[in-house]
Amino acid sequence: MVFIGEYIGTIEEFIPEYGTYVEDGKIYAAVMGDLKQNNEKKIVFNMKLPRLTVGSIVLAEITDVRNNSATAKIIKFLGYRQNVFVSAGIFVSQISDEYADKVSSFLGVGDIVKARIVRNEKNLIDLSTKGNLGVVKAFCKVCRHELILNKEKIGSKTLICPNCKKGETRKMADDYGAVKDVF
Ligand SMILES: [Zn+2]
Repeated sequence: MVFIGEYIGTIEEFIPEYGTYVEDGKIYAAVMGDLKQNNEKKIVFNMKLPRLTVGSIVLAEITDVRNNSATAKIIKFLGYRQNVFVSAGIFVSQISDEYADKVSSFLGVGDIVKARIVRNEKNLIDLSTKGNLGVVKAFCKVCRHELILNKEKIGSKTLICPNCKKGETRKMADDYGAVKDVF
């Protein structure tokens, strides 16, 4: 049994597989579980990622924005280094505690959101960005540069593109720009 962050060995000794991550040539456990050595070198974990249960907080990338909903790809459980790739949806009514009329005023394609799973039935997963959740990383819709908080407008919750100076709005998380470990 190994725990998250526990040192397993070097990449010379093993081939890191599912459930591990590598830093400076050293392999660590990304998840908790039983260590398995497949053949001479490969190591994997005899376990699954934490389940996509209702209430879990995840990081997801927005893949499409429509009038009443957005599609997203869940890429990570918050606090876990291992990536996951699961499709999900966000309905306009689940974006904000305030009334949201159209999704494009709150989310953009390519944005990374911190969201809560609010439904998981038959592999249909719905996310919510209500409360202090929301976009943690956003990109300019014109030039794709990463957007930064518009500090000239204190409390305005608007973003600005440092490249083309275009202002944009998002449903931002409280910690916009502060979630470093996205990929
Ligand atoms: Zn721009």
